[in-house]
Amino acid sequence: MSTQHAVVIGGSIAGLSAAQALRSRFDKVTILEQDALPDRPQGRRGTPQAWHNHFLLDRGRQSLDSLFPGFTDHVVAQGGTLLDPAYDAVQCLATGWVPRSQSGMRMLFASRPNFESCIRDLARQDPNIRFVENAPVSGLITSSEPSGVRVTGVNYLDPAERATRDLAADLVVDASGRGSKCAKWMTDLGVDIEERTLDAQVTYSSRWYRWPDQDVSWWKWLTVLPSIDPDATDQQRYLCSIFPIEDNSFIAVMGSWGLPMPSTVDDFEAAYRTTRSPEFGRVLDAAEPLTDVHRTKSTKNVWRRFDKAANLPAGYIAVGDAVCAFNPIYAQGMTCAATSGVILRDLLTRRDFHDHSFPVAFYGEQAKLLDLPWQLALTRDGAYDHATGTDVMSNGLMRKLVSRYTWSGFQFMTEAAFEDDVINDHFDKVFNLHESLGEFLRNPRVLYGLLRYGVRKILGRSSLPKLVAPHLEPDATDVTHLRGGAASAEVAAVAR
Ligand SMILES: Cc1cc2nc3c(=O)[nH]c(=O)nc-3n(C[C@H](O)[C@H](O)[C@H](O)COP(=O)(O)OP(=O)(O)OC[C@H]3O[C@@H](n4cnc5c(N)ncnc54)[C@H](O)[C@@H]3O)c2cc1C
Repeated sequence: MSTQHAVVIGGSIAGLSAAQALRSRFDKVTILEQDALPDRPQGRRGTPQAWHNHFLLDRGRQSLDSLFPGFTDHVVAQGGTLLDPAYDAVQCLATGWVPRSQSGMRMLFASRPNFESCIRDLARQDPNIRFVENAPVSGLITSSEPSGVRVTGVNYLDPAERATRDLAADLVVDASGRGSKCAKWMTDLGVDIEERTLDAQVTYSSRWYRWPDQDVSWWKWLTVLPSIDPDATDQQRYLCSIFPIEDNSFIAVMGSWGLPMPSTVDDFEAAYRTTRSPEFGRVLDAAEPLTDVHRTKSTKNVWRRFDKAANLPAGYIAVGDAVCAFNPIYAQGMTCAATSGVILRDLLTRRDFHDHSFPVAFYGEQAKLLDLPWQLALTRDGAYDHATGTDVMSNGLMRKLVSRYTWSGFQFMTEAAFEDDVINDHFDKVFNLHESLGEFLRNPRVLYGLLRYGVRKILGRSSLPKLVAPHLEPDATDVTHLRGGAASAEVAAVAR
């Protein structure tokens, strides 16, 4: 039998995950990457988003651990941290700070260059995954056969000879990110790819810092949600975060839907001192800045619907941001990129990749994965007046309601989750892409719990302590003993 060779375009999160998945079926995998790849955690031109905080959801971590056994341990060994998001972190909701309590959950924190570098280290352990750096791909090589078009390789710039070369492949995987030419390449082959879009004009401004020497905070991760006060200033409407990474450092980020955001150090410093929570500015003032301010507006939700296209070529699939890129505020991109690798690996055990039905089956399964975060992202983004794109919410009343009540709804569910373990469990599953928002809201047990919490709240019988006001420092008291209290037991009895 001849040697089977796969080519992956792009050596980032999606490309590395796909390459690892392909090794279950292919003798050789070649990753063609336009950049030089650093041998330690470091940003590079092809991934400008790496300056901003990257939160890895639990499902993404599971996918990466499944593709690259030892991934989590490796990130921790490289300075990443596993934190309890209810105990080590503070979150300021619409009306104040959520009290601190212990949970069984652990989340992995590191910079994006560190995540990528750890995955690359693990992929490099396989001698049959070959990396060709400084090798941008410029096109697909195709052939016609009675059953349709087949992709048989790519054209790329050979870095040694500085000339365009052909590279033959039995399967090409496009993982070249948001800027991928995949839609144009398909159009050139006569294949129409519908593009769904929603741009809520989200902007991120980020700067890296070293933690202050002195003990300025007991928490390790901070999130301040936007104010819901109609008279709030622009800065009070920012979503603010202090996000821990390796090397005793953190990324401070301010993000907004549709507001102008600082791009210079002076504007950044002026802005962080006037956000909703003085706690944010207090820690930034005490910390040592390590970088300039980095601002990005590359945050549009875009889904190229390969799953709906007819006459797809055999021998080619696309993964990661090349297919679906999200507003990053919901932290879904790396999880979808890695989980597409798991889908690919599993499909290769059941289907012949030579077959024209292989891409159809792959995109079908990938669409099931993407639909969940897509709906979650659209629920909020589609309601903004300034949002544009094919998927803006068309019902005016619904748009107003969602726009007005999302953050208070989020606050209500967070409060209910505090005293009801079942709601908490499902809420975590939605956030971590194990369950859809629709499933959550249709679950009778969840609905009953929410209703019950609403009644308890009105009657003043909630076990949740009064939230500390946003202008004060968050309280470090451990209130674990109040979690999931009597309400849960009562609701569980009713549910039975
Ligand atoms: C501001 C911001 C914050 C984010 N925060 C989060 C977060 O908190 N959590 C999360 O999960 N996701 C987050 N994301 C999304 C995340 O960055 C992406 O979803 C994820 O990196 C997907 O990776 P990818 O491999 O598909 O694409 P990319 O990481 O963009 O990589 C594409 C790769 O292809 C290479 N390439 C491009 N063209 C060519 C070519 N022609 N030939 C060869 N190589 C090529 C590039 O150099 C690059 O290496 C964020 C994104 C942004 C913009």
